[in-house]
Amino acid sequence: MRIGVLGAGQLGRMLALAGHPLGFELVCLDPARDAPAGQVAEHLAAPYDDELALARLAACDVVTYEFESVPVATARELARTTPVHPSPDALAIAQDRWTEKSCFRELGIPTAPFARVDSEDELRAAVDKLGLPAVLKTRRFGYDGKGQSVLCRDADIASAWRELGRAPLILEGFVRFQRELSLLSVRSTTGETAFYPLVENEHSHGILRLSRAPARGLTPALQATAEDYGRRLLDRLGYAGVLALELFEEGGTLLANEMAPRVHNSGHFSIEGAVTSQFENHLRAITGLPLGSTALRASAAMLNFVGAPPEPALVLAVPDAHLHLYGKEPRPGRKLGHATVLAPDETTRETRIASLEKTLAARDESR
Ligand code: AMP
Repeated sequence: MRIGVLGAGQLGRMLALAGHPLGFELVCLDPARDAPAGQVAEHLAAPYDDELALARLAACDVVTYEFESVPVATARELARTTPVHPSPDALAIAQDRWTEKSCFRELGIPTAPFARVDSEDELRAAVDKLGLPAVLKTRRFGYDGKGQSVLCRDADIASAWRELGRAPLILEGFVRFQRELSLLSVRSTTGETAFYPLVENEHSHGILRLSRAPARGLTPALQATAEDYGRRLLDRLGYAGVLALELFEEGGTLLANEMAPRVHNSGHFSIEGAVTSQFENHLRAITGLPLGSTALRASAAMLNFVGAPPEPALVLAVPDAHLHLYGKEPRPGRKLGHATVLAPDETTRETRIASLEKTLAARDESR
């Protein structure tokens, strides 16, 4: 079976690696010549509207994407001839924070209060309504905390507008969350559905730094609430594939922040940490195969390597640590790889996370 993929970043690379044992051949379209998936899968280095490249993808059995900023028009064009999963409609909703949050609201999934902002007057009206502090975000193409500004006092309004006002915006109430969680859901074209245990995420400068799976102290009630929200989304979107839902936990309640209609960085732990990885389950889901178990094999944690690679020998000296490097040129702020540690219990996991973090400190000292 041939699977076309829009995007050829590290997510495409890990999809390709998961697809090999199942006999899947992946063909990835990405304009970047040195795209990470190109080292392990067929790579079409062309723009997303290149007719020849799109014809090659359309000849695949199914098309998916690993990057949510791919043009919806491309996904829709491909869907005329070839199954595209997740659907272009799901992609379109997730690309715009306003349609995304409106979808959550329509499904009864709690969010921070939010308002659409298309002018400075609307921004002032939104601040009057939601109060301060608040977060102003571009509706489209924001990622890893880019395209956002926190407004603390009235004087911040004009400067935030100057910084971001050229694009359509959304204002959100500032959530004083205790922690950030994510739910990885998966639904097959057959309708079969599964959920991974909630993951607890820590960010640094807007970029995911560390994930713990399961989240510390995870209760069945919190998991059930998250799964209820995940299921509403999967059903509403007629979804096939992995869907990541990012959540804030605030005073025991869950507020949805955003969703990613694809495999997700917070699910990388599942390669070693779960019976079936998010990558394999995504491929199973979009090809209508039975889903694999989402149960954890151990307490897992994943640490991202951003900007500079670690010393492999130091990482691999940590018990039950697994290293993944994406074959990317180091650049500040760039995700170059990750390591997952497994542990028999949460206490041992914390010790192993601390050992992994020491490898980062050693790396930074030698730079
Ligand atoms: P996002 O691009 O929406 O995922 O936001 C990036 C990060 O900014 C999140 O992981 C949060 O740490 C923080 N953040 C986003 N929205 C809010 C909000 N409404 N209140 C407080 N923090 C937020």
